[in-house]
Amino acid sequence: MSGSYGGAERGQDLDWRVMLGAMPDAAVVLDQAGRVVEFNAPLNELYPDVRRDQPLSRWLRNPDLFQAIEDAAGGQPEVVFLIHRLPVERRIAARVVRLGDMSAEEVSGSAPFYLVTFRDLTEQDKLAQMREDFIANASHELRTPLASLRGFIETLQGPARDDAGARDRFLALMAGQAERMTRLIDDLLSLSRVEMRAHVMPRAIIDLNEVAGYVLETLQPMAAAARADLQLELDKVSARFRGERDEIVQVISNLVHNAITYGGDGVEVRVAVARAPAQGGHGERVCVTVSDNGPGIPKEHLPRLTERFYRPSVSASRSKGGTGLGLAIVKHIVARHRGDLEISSQLGRGSTFKASFDAVT
Ligand code: ADP
Repeated sequence: MSGSYGGAERGQDLDWRVMLGAMPDAAVVLDQAGRVVEFNAPLNELYPDVRRDQPLSRWLRNPDLFQAIEDAAGGQPEVVFLIHRLPVERRIAARVVRLGDMSAEEVSGSAPFYLVTFRDLTEQDKLAQMREDFIANASHELRTPLASLRGFIETLQGPARDDAGARDRFLALMAGQAERMTRLIDDLLSLSRVEMRAHVMPRAIIDLNEVAGYVLETLQPMAAAARADLQLELDKVSARFRGERDEIVQVISNLVHNAITYGGDGVEVRVAVARAPAQGGHGERVCVTVSDNGPGIPKEHLPRLTERFYRPSVSASRSKGGTGLGLAIVKHIVARHRGDLEISSQLGRGSTFKASFDAVT
């Protein structure tokens, strides 16, 4: 921006106001005394009490910001971080710049002198925190079996060196820990692959009947070993939708796998594919429902069940070979397909997981 605002002609005057209005961040222009000359709509949204010709201090009392404005008069841009606690806590970066070099006459009256922009960092902070938590969780989950493997190795190198019985027992336990690490890495890779493609809508047309049939066939041996009864109900006509077959295979396998794993001995698992009118009356949906008559999930856990590494009981999940990522993968895949995932459960009665997608006719 050029410095001659004070003596600006109408055309130039219009320019900076138009630019201020077009800025995506909340921004306010102040005169040298700190009074509001102009502000844009995002600023009005962030600070509804803002008024022209009033000092900034009327609607934003923050000593750090006043200091930054004073310091910015020297010509160096200044950045300060503001914490707003109400209505919800938000962290905002405020950047103050002096607008060019102006002579004393030019800055008299209510001429633009400072531009203050506000950027809401709350969302960015939340994402950074999530990433940090995720890495901490993933490392912790990997470190546990790794520590146990090292313990066994040390024992086999030392005290159990010549004990053939202990060696066989330890090697079997070590194989179990190595498998657990492999499962975790496979799940982490699946999750990252789905996330990478999160914004690419699948193009191929697949049939939910075919995919559900295939998954049930592949899981039959596991069901037989757990004495689970798998039942399949297919849609009579067709259940076609746009989807990535491998990913939908994973959704149904994870759900059926969980139903068998957590359903208990002799559980009945029902997989049903159906079509239903879409809400709002536009077109149809195809749905796959996986329900079991197992012990169910306490209500308070349902809202967080699809979060990465969230498990109502970490030890129960671990002892059954769980990683805590299965439902997070399901949720991400369904979201990538612009589908919906509904979870309901009743203690003592069982759980139902339903994924639905827009049908292709
Ligand atoms: P994992 O099975 O690896 O622990 P998931 O994300 O697949 O992770 O599942 C999270 C948790 O949800 C499980 O640990 C289990 O407690 C619960 N859960 C999932 N499906 C069922 C089900 N059908 N019945 C009871 N609990 C379930």
